[in-house]
Amino acid sequence: AACKNETKSTTNDGSPLYLDPTASVNDRVEDLMSRMTLEDKVYQMCQYVGLEHMKAAESKISAEELDKNDALGFYPGVLSDSVGRLAAAGKIGSFLHVVTPEEANYLQKLALQSPLKIPLLIGIDAIHGNGLVSGSTIYPSPISQAATFDDALVKEGSRQTALEMRANGMHWSFTPNIDVLRDPRWGRTGETYGEDPFLVGNMGVATISGLQSDDFTGSENVIACAKHLIAGSSSINGLNAAPTDVSKRTLFEIFLPPYRRAVQEANVFSIMAAHNEVAGMPGHMDKFMMNDLMRERWGFNGFYVSDWNDVSRIAYWHHVAKDFKQSIEFSVNAGMDMNMHGPTFDKLLIELVNEGKVDVARVNYACKKLLEVKFRLGLFENPFVDIEKSKTVNFSEAHQKNALEQARRSIVLQTNKNNALPLSENGNGKTIFITGPNANNQTTLGDWVSPQPEENVVTMVEGITQIGEAKGYKVNYFDSGDRSKEITDANIDLAAQKAKQSDIVILVLGENSFRHDWPRKTTGENIDRATLKLSGNQMKLANKILDLGKKVIVVYISGSPIAEPGLENRANAVLNTWESGAFAGQAAAEILFGQVNPSGKLPLTVPRSVGQLQMVYNHKPTAYIHKYNTEKKVPLHPFGFGLSYTNFEFSEPKLSKDVFAGIDDVINVTVEVSNTGALDGEEVVQLYIHDDISSYTRPVKELKGYKRIALKAGETKSVTIPVKAESLAMYDKDFNFVVEPGTFTIMTGNSSADKDLKTTTISVAEGIVLDKN
Ligand code: BGC
Repeated sequence: AACKNETKSTTNDGSPLYLDPTASVNDRVEDLMSRMTLEDKVYQMCQYVGLEHMKAAESKISAEELDKNDALGFYPGVLSDSVGRLAAAGKIGSFLHVVTPEEANYLQKLALQSPLKIPLLIGIDAIHGNGLVSGSTIYPSPISQAATFDDALVKEGSRQTALEMRANGMHWSFTPNIDVLRDPRWGRTGETYGEDPFLVGNMGVATISGLQSDDFTGSENVIACAKHLIAGSSSINGLNAAPTDVSKRTLFEIFLPPYRRAVQEANVFSIMAAHNEVAGMPGHMDKFMMNDLMRERWGFNGFYVSDWNDVSRIAYWHHVAKDFKQSIEFSVNAGMDMNMHGPTFDKLLIELVNEGKVDVARVNYACKKLLEVKFRLGLFENPFVDIEKSKTVNFSEAHQKNALEQARRSIVLQTNKNNALPLSENGNGKTIFITGPNANNQTTLGDWVSPQPEENVVTMVEGITQIGEAKGYKVNYFDSGDRSKEITDANIDLAAQKAKQSDIVILVLGENSFRHDWPRKTTGENIDRATLKLSGNQMKLANKILDLGKKVIVVYISGSPIAEPGLENRANAVLNTWESGAFAGQAAAEILFGQVNPSGKLPLTVPRSVGQLQMVYNHKPTAYIHKYNTEKKVPLHPFGFGLSYTNFEFSEPKLSKDVFAGIDDVINVTVEVSNTGALDGEEVVQLYIHDDISSYTRPVKELKGYKRIALKAGETKSVTIPVKAESLAMYDKDFNFVVEPGTFTIMTGNSSADKDLKTTTISVAEGIVLDKN
């Protein structure tokens, strides 16, 4: 082991400088590091899953399995008891999935028994609210958030999540997932912000700045984690963790832009590597990505965390290292700073440093960053939380308000034949019949959420019943059973009988990523979709009811798109609510009954079938030269699309000037938008560009700006969206980020479909270099 540095600083009262809150973070880090052995530093790089979580897992594992100590570092051989002892000895730097403030306090107490008294950094997947903690505010899933096209609202929700996390003793959220979605078979689609790099980048920046504030200093901030580096959303077979084989150009054009912005605009302080390989290189040992590109070229100044057990998987899954030890060597040398979960990482890394296979500078870097976080977050001063206070912060009025507003703005009206919606203001005793597998449960909460108190969640049945009855409708509900086996033929017949006696049927269909709902989950991490059709017997139920000829409104709850063109053709209206969180039922009912005018927009293309994949709006020019034998080559619904109960008309776009003159230049594009219908409403004005002639092929259109506006019936507003050098840039043959001279088509409107867009042209006289390789 390396010698301890003997020149330690103390304060006037003789206590170590690093414990002095008035000293600078830098001095405190330096002082503490000088007191640490190599071993101590490596311990900071070790993360374990929370004890309660482990105990729950232990109770499910046989004694035999518990005895096996395989190098995967999973539960076997490492029991919650021994982990408690490691924490008390200062041998653990971080925990994940600690889900109560009581456990957070307990673990901190253990850590403070250690000689150096270094508090723990506690991480959790708080991806749309601090959802693994019961009693938290559950905001809509990221895919719903993206559908709002409302960065400020999402940022405010993330700020609130930071407050709830800190009140419960958690400091680090494993979000945002800025994987640009290309293949919606991926079960994690609902965790993403959709298929567009610009929208994903904006949502990522909003989320990170909401969580971290400017510099994550103090007791009300947490650090964010951009994940997963990289391209796991585009595996070759749609399965999680399976190989991705995209080109370097596609990485730079599609997958990397949100990461560059997370680092450069939002100063994200941690990045998680991906389970998957890209073109033969496992994410956890990709030195080019982690170090050369992110750190050296783009200035990432924080630390890397591995994904669950993925350092060991370099050997055991990918087979490019001979064992866990060599995996650690490759990973830490590539830039990895923390191992997510398990034993032996510390011992093996210490050996590797002593053998000269890993430079001690890597360990010093990691330790320094991890200590910096702990000092900046104020953990040395305030490692504990006040459990009573946490109860007042969780699910507070202001947080509920934001979650409800996000839900209202995220719901997308996909079809509405002959103005089937909104339902009439006056029910006059008409009967509404609700059924379907998602009608009356917590599927609206989406993934990474624990079951929440029933009083905190408005289900679809609850929302529709409350608002419907207030308007004079009679509302009945029948539990059709779950998606698969349980929607029995008998239940389908019963549902049809009840539907027959009603005036309006609301079918609540979709998929289920609600984590704690095993085995009924049909999507989510490690549950990918081989078809985008409704699972189980849902179509059988729907068809039987549609055959009755009643007015049928379909409400989808699903983190990923549903490709059922036949159903959309037959139903009177389809409302896609994604996973709109705790207030999904209220927001959907407000829209169904016309109290709120729908304004959500699709953050991804809804294909007609799996055979069309990968279908995205920002495809290359030759994607649709030819045709399929048995399928159309147009989507069911395009990116950016969503209906309203009113009509919006758009003028031709007007330019502040038409020649773009240099790196700092801006051209303002202005459109007049009029609400020509009879109802007030909100609209998302969208701006796309196309590089007319380029040195490499470019997408037919790319979103480069948007603005959500509210317009009263009859009102007109002018909306200005800036075009900057970055909006026009691409990667040249040497991977410099440049604007090439020539013309660019500018398109404005309210969806990505050509028929919804009006165009103009700008030109660039001289090339511009924004970022040199
Ligand atoms: C997921 C990560 C997540 C981690 C910890 C992994 O399986 O890929 O996104 O943050 O688990 O829960």
